[in-house]
Amino acid sequence: MRLFPIRGGIHPDYRKELASEQAIVVLPMPTELFIPLQQHIGAPAETLVAAGDLVKKGQMIARSQGAVSAPQHAPTSGRISAVTNAPAPHPSGLAQLTIILEADGRDEWAELPEPIADPFAATPQAIKDRVAASGIVGMGGAAFPSAVKLNLGIQLKLEILLINGAECEPYLTCDDRVMREHADEVVDGARIMAHALGAPKVVVAIEDNKPQALAAMARAASAYGNVEVIGVPVQYPMGSERHLTQAITGRETPAKKLTADLGVVVHNVATARAVRDAVRLGRPLLSRVLTVSGGAVREPKNIEVPIGTRVSELIAFCGGFNSEPSRLVNGGPMMGQPLPSLEVPVVKGTSGILALTPEEVNDAAPGPCIRCGTCVTICPCGLSPLEMAAFIRNDKLDAAARLGVQDCVSCGSCSWICPSHIPLVHYFNYAKGMLMEQNREERKIERTKTLAEEHATRIERAAAAKQAAMAAKLAAGKEKGGAAAEEKASA
Ligand code: SF4
Ligand code: SF4
Repeated sequence: MRLFPIRGGIHPDYRKELASEQAIVVLPMPTELFIPLQQHIGAPAETLVAAGDLVKKGQMIARSQGAVSAPQHAPTSGRISAVTNAPAPHPSGLAQLTIILEADGRDEWAELPEPIADPFAATPQAIKDRVAASGIVGMGGAAFPSAVKLNLGIQLKLEILLINGAECEPYLTCDDRVMREHADEVVDGARIMAHALGAPKVVVAIEDNKPQALAAMARAASAYGNVEVIGVPVQYPMGSERHLTQAITGRETPAKKLTADLGVVVHNVATARAVRDAVRLGRPLLSRVLTVSGGAVREPKNIEVPIGTRVSELIAFCGGFNSEPSRLVNGGPMMGQPLPSLEVPVVKGTSGILALTPEEVNDAAPGPCIRCGTCVTICPCGLSPLEMAAFIRNDKLDAAARLGVQDCVSCGSCSWICPSHIPLVHYFNYAKGMLMEQNREERKIERTKTLAEEHATRIERAAAAKQAAMAAKLAAGKEKGGAAAEEKASA
């Protein structure tokens, strides 16, 4: 397959060697799990349990609400000790409604849905229903409900299901290990998703710095003519959906459009494996593989972790810290978020936990912009970070919007490269949040206006109908009166 260049990008110190040779190990079941109701983009799940309830492994404990939502399941058997606000893995550190499950140590399974023995004979709808009921969300970090994404084949003509194995964030190696150790399951899950989407072709794209994953996936795919495994250049942010799509199709996703509008739907490798488990085994999403790494971690590892495990337990499992971390990160160092505390739980979108030393963190104080233009040269979205930041600093969000700040994929490349250490991406995340809020407000006002207009039209119509009815009644009365007079005269 021919590859196309992507614009800009950077080559940070990847430090993948810290964990890449660590085979996936399974974390012993914690005694307590903290399962937030909001682990995905969309509406939070609605709890089905209360304190004191006994649950079994795989049992649905919170159902999805609305079109974009996902249910939660018990990762083990035990007793619900509370449904209450608890620390959430969000930089704000704000608490979130959480189901707290005390494990009983028996790990006893609930009755699971029947496996779908031949997924390719099943209807696409049956696959999507199973994926929705299994609580699967995008496991590359975006956490968008996967069943909603599988619906895109209904509205759009899709050509390619693109399986994202780029894993371009430094330090993270969990996808690499999943591909090396579970290649057959990933390919099977990808083929099942392609069937649900109606996409004729599957492309698995892996950065060239993962030769063992490339080999394992190529072997697993070799039996299927419609599955192609390709190596893509090591260039951050190759793993962004838009840029990976551009690398394999040569086409840029227009602003405010989806890659699906170009006929390409992108899913992560771990999501493909989770779909396979849900369809072939009837298992909902109860755990995920993630990387614990960074210079401050004594024994970096790739670990299969039950959803709801507290980060402190992962750090203990990795031998603790060998020095005081300068920064704790949820995800990769480029796009990840600061971890507010070690007591927050792992959720479905947690791809990594990093504990970085002062040498691994650039904590230099920001200086003035020297207008070197480097941020413009490397921006993979063709934006002008220095100008956008200047507008945002002066509270001119509309001007930043005109320069395309909403097209920024928050990759952090501009902040990373800036010789003045200006935290550019923070400006853009702030501006995007504010603009989204503004749009929401405008839509609300627009909706209220439309409702008021519709109400006024309904009242006008009702008044007109009433008037017409009265006029008709009067006319009928006159006619009756005239006829009676006529009858009297003729008599
Ligand atoms: S890289 Fe930094 S210093 Fe250079 S133009 Fe951009 S914002 Fe200014
Ligand atoms: S964070 Fe946004 S503006 Fe900066 S390089 Fe990435 S896409 Fe461009």
